[in-house]
Amino acid sequence: MNKKQKNRIFVWINVIIICLLIIAKTYQEKTKKEDISLEIRSLSLVYPEADGFSEKKGSPPHYEVYAINEKGEKKLVGLCFLSTDFAPDIRGYAGKIRILIGMNNKGQVKGIKILSHNETPSYVQTLQEPVFTDQFKKLDHKSEFKLGRDLDGITRATISSQAVVSAVEKSIKLAANKFFNLEVKQKISFEWKDIYKNYNIYIITLFFVLAIYFYLNGIRYGRYFILTGAILYFGFLELNYISIISLINIFTGRIPDIVSSLSWYFLFVLTFITTMLWGRIYCGWICPFGAIQELLGKISPFHVKILNDDEKKARLIKYYLLILIVGAVFVTGNIGFTNYEPFNTIFSLRGEIIFFAFLIFLLITSFFIFRFWCRYLCGVGAFLSLLSNFSIFPLKAKKNCDLCRKCEAICPLEICSVDEDIFIEKGECIQCNLCREQCKEKVIKN
Ligand code: SF4
Ligand code: SF4
Ligand code: SF4
Repeated sequence: MNKKQKNRIFVWINVIIICLLIIAKTYQEKTKKEDISLEIRSLSLVYPEADGFSEKKGSPPHYEVYAINEKGEKKLVGLCFLSTDFAPDIRGYAGKIRILIGMNNKGQVKGIKILSHNETPSYVQTLQEPVFTDQFKKLDHKSEFKLGRDLDGITRATISSQAVVSAVEKSIKLAANKFFNLEVKQKISFEWKDIYKNYNIYIITLFFVLAIYFYLNGIRYGRYFILTGAILYFGFLELNYISIISLINIFTGRIPDIVSSLSWYFLFVLTFITTMLWGRIYCGWICPFGAIQELLGKISPFHVKILNDDEKKARLIKYYLLILIVGAVFVTGNIGFTNYEPFNTIFSLRGEIIFFAFLIFLLITSFFIFRFWCRYLCGVGAFLSLLSNFSIFPLKAKKNCDLCRKCEAICPLEICSVDEDIFIEKGECIQCNLCREQCKEKVIKN
């Protein structure tokens, strides 16, 4: 390439960069105008009784709200403002949540509306509905804004719901104090007495205690009893399960408030302890999506055995997916990558059509292949699998085996193999106990 050609390429690269910058700037301006337009159109939604609003003004910026009396005089009755102007430090999973808030001159919330966010759409969907937002209308600058007490979290997307609540609370208190001189109480953020009143911690503990008891004593029907209960309680009732988002939050230190998310903490800590002691008790006994897949497989007459080298390689997909998703979330800050998990779609029955299509595909595959999702695609399963490699009391075969191979034949995950010895793939085992029950010689123990 001669010098002239090099110069031409250099000029073209510059032209392209300038064009991209102009496009980006134009897009940014357009988005900004759309944001302001949405903000203005939403004023009357968060303060329906208002007769008029001022221009946006002051510091932090706000709109004054007026009422007009019988004499036609304008009176200042409240303010509308954005949480991002009054509480810019409060973030959801994936950044700030822009909430428009209406407040009267007595510090009472008149209405809130989420204008924009970067959270997982299905997590924020319920937070945008009146059943959640209308609850704020009973609160004022003196309220404590406690999720689970003053406000129902509705979804267990605790970080998103906690971020909305904290942003509204901080904004209301600051605005009431600064613009209307109202006295604001300091927030007491942690109250142990509330923790003991949370009945969920006892239910979760009971699930784990029973699971460990049934597991250690080889009580087979106890397991199906727990799996059914887990679908109802952890799945449909509480939406409390371990997801990649939980893992990312733990490792990035974005842990939710302990009082409002106590059930989540209990589940996580008990899962961690049991995994380190025995292996994937959570997967085999507690996880509601694992349970659904397994029970569907139980009622199905079609079971496909697919053990071969390719199948073994296919199990690695879940590890690559875990790395890929966690990496993508870290690099882009967009939590939407974790949407591929079917948990929220099935248990909240919300989400886009594509996720429902994927869910149906997974449920159908469960009829043919034992726990298809767990086996090949689950990032949480991959994480727990890595952890369980360090478990202290995993299932293993002791001496005196008569090599009858019944354990190999019964293992639904096809990870138990009998040669001259018994080999159980520690990380893949979900502690379902089937091999141990099958072994009349009582060779398999933990
Ligand atoms: S592999 Fe995933 S879906 Fe399956 S049981 Fe474990 S956590 Fe649940
Ligand atoms: S049957 Fe397979 S998955 Fe179940 S406990 Fe035994 S080795 Fe683990
Ligand atoms: S079922 Fe028991 S005795 Fe038979 S091969 Fe397995 S470990 Fe050995």
